[in-house]
Amino acid sequence: MSPEFNLIKQYFTRPTNHTLLGVGDDAALVQTQVGMQLAISADMLVSGTHFFADTDAYKLGWKSLAVNISDMAAMGAQPKWATLAIALPAIDEKWLAAFSQGFFACADTFNVDLIGGDTTRGPLTISVQIMGEVGVGKSLRRDHAKVGDQIWVSGELGTAALALNALMDKLTLDEKQLKTYRKSLEQPEPRVALGLALRDIANSAIDISDGLLSDLGHILEQSEVSAEIYLNDIPCNEYVSSHLHEEPFQKMLLAGGDDYELCFTAPIEMQYKIKELSKQLSLKLTHIGHIIPQKDGASKVVVSDDNGNIIEIKETGFDHFA
Ligand code: ADP
Ligand code: MG
Repeated sequence: MSPEFNLIKQYFTRPTNHTLLGVGDDAALVQTQVGMQLAISADMLVSGTHFFADTDAYKLGWKSLAVNISDMAAMGAQPKWATLAIALPAIDEKWLAAFSQGFFACADTFNVDLIGGDTTRGPLTISVQIMGEVGVGKSLRRDHAKVGDQIWVSGELGTAALALNALMDKLTLDEKQLKTYRKSLEQPEPRVALGLALRDIANSAIDISDGLLSDLGHILEQSEVSAEIYLNDIPCNEYVSSHLHEEPFQKMLLAGGDDYELCFTAPIEMQYKIKELSKQLSLKLTHIGHIIPQKDGASKVVVSDDNGNIIEIKETGFDHFA
């Protein structure tokens, strides 16, 4: 057997739960259920761009699948199948073992089958494609936000950005704080159960990968609406909260990426259902503002603080080509 095939067999072949034919043939075979649509998405992680070259391989394995599953959550889809295309500078058995353990830990948590991929030599790059199922007409899209909708976010924002700034020595956290906060950055938890529940509640949804202003901005542009949000209502950890009068921390909260929480809009009469859902899922869901009409044909997010002052943030999120 070729070394490449051996490696695939050893590290990337596991029994599947809902797949007709998995890793090993020229293509995988899957069967969708009647009345369901396929939701498909891909996300690539490049060493030096999306993660530090020395990132723990287990955490990288987890994250490379988790960020893809997050896209399924944001569509209201049940994630089911993934493919993994990976370029490796060299065969490092220890690294591969840890990477695949992290990848499959995430796959097991969310019941996703790895059904195929590609393995090649090159600068460390991990490209995952995810496929999921959603009932016909049930998906959560970016282009259905309505004027009057309340804007909500799950969990807390700004934590991954806080950890990233600490790891880049731009601020100092004590050991305990760093340990807590870096989990958001390195092992994000996609909000699948929330996405599924929101199919009958929300008008629109997106996952926050690049930053709240940037990602909410996508909903606004595609729905041709604007938004008003309140800085002090945006949920965040204690550290960010206690520094929120400082501009860098406002930026972490509004424009920090990598938290993989969901931002969604829903009619005001859904607020009781949303509060109920929050209890059911033991997940914080916070109302941070509302959808307003566009002015002069342009979408805009107006952010104000407790004193009614408008907050201006120049960079609204991470843009690879900016
Ligand atoms: P082919 O040359 O026919 O494209 P490959 O040798 O690239 O086949 O792959 C053999 C099998 O292993 C295929 O089923 C492919 O989907 C799977 N595979 C390759 N790399 C990976 C990987 N990193 N993770 C999961 N499956 C993989
Ligand atoms: Mg191939």
